[in-house]
Amino acid sequence: MSMSDKLSSRKNIKKSPGKTSFFHRLDVRFPWLKLAAVCLLGFIAIIDLLDLTVSKLSDPYDKIRIAPMSYHVRVTKRVLEGKMLVALTFDDGPSSATTPKLLDILYTEDVPATFFMLGNMARNNPDIVRRAESEGHVVASHTMYHQNLIRISTAAVRSDINEASTVFKDILGHLPTLTRPPYGNFNSTIGSIIGTPLILWSVDTLDWKNKSTDAIMETTLSQVHDGAIILMHDIHPTTVETVPTLISALRGLGYEFVTVPELVEIRGKKLTSGAAYYNFRP
Ligand SMILES: [Zn+2]
Repeated sequence: MSMSDKLSSRKNIKKSPGKTSFFHRLDVRFPWLKLAAVCLLGFIAIIDLLDLTVSKLSDPYDKIRIAPMSYHVRVTKRVLEGKMLVALTFDDGPSSATTPKLLDILYTEDVPATFFMLGNMARNNPDIVRRAESEGHVVASHTMYHQNLIRISTAAVRSDINEASTVFKDILGHLPTLTRPPYGNFNSTIGSIIGTPLILWSVDTLDWKNKSTDAIMETTLSQVHDGAIILMHDIHPTTVETVPTLISALRGLGYEFVTVPELVEIRGKKLTSGAAYYNFRP
């Protein structure tokens, strides 16, 4: 048999009636089967998705540390809506002497915090910066060199802010989305140069001045309120030593801990760049 004969005989086989494929015959006898198969696949996909979501929601904190921030905020919002909330914030670090110890405490206590880091401290401790973010904390900017921004020229403010932005971008791969001006000093020009919302505080623990657990506890507990932003400094050993006692006391009063972006989200606020925020009361 020549090659052309072989080909034509194959064509004949294909065309000959009664020799249709298995799937064609199936399609003819059971026309609804294709639709049923598609529905089944869709059903399996939905169940898979639901199972994933349910398992995440049933144990939200377990997954938070490895989840992206948007997921973290979504789950936290669901769990914490209607609760009394506070945001612990730590300024002036990171310090290799004290910040890792604080991160250990926060990890053990399962408490997220917001760190207003200095660019020059972050540059010296990039691993601590990355660790803080990877453990579910928010890394925000406290400028580059902790200058009193209302006492320096506009050009100097711009240069400080740009330098800090570069440092955080290099370490974390993204710019900080919140800033705390040193000493809480700013004006509208400084606000527009900074270009992020300004986060101040409503509870000043005075931890830098009263280096004593009793004093920090008393100052904090006498001022704390729902939606408070609590100011502390992670560069002081006394502060870090006080944190477990403070967490336990605040929990005893019914407070839950959130980061500043979570507090904003849960309280349904929209922040404006350059504007200042002191607390997020309900
Ligand atoms: Zn400071």
